[in-house]
Amino acid sequence: MDACTLVSVLIVLGVLLVLGLAVFGGLRTSSPRRRFEYCPSCDATLPDRDDQCPECGLDLLGKLADRLERIRLARLEIRQLEDEGNSTRKLQAV
Ligand SMILES: [Zn+2]
Repeated sequence: MDACTLVSVLIVLGVLLVLGLAVFGGLRTSSPRRRFEYCPSCDATLPDRDDQCPECGLDLLGKLADRLERIRLARLEIRQLEDEGNSTRKLQAV
């Protein structure tokens, strides 16, 4: 194998390595992120592709949005329990 062939093989292997990293790296980062239907902060209806609430400016990709969403869901759950006839006394024990 002469030097020119060796260099060609190395270049091809390098290109394949870069393409492989791009494909597998892209697959790893393109996992679907949970999207909010409503803003966890102000309950505004959110467009499909926004990363920021158009009403209050909340960063929908940030940790604060995740935490606020958990609080919003807890509020909804409490309201539903109240609507089902559970007394406030029972709910305070939670
Ligand atoms: Zn908002």
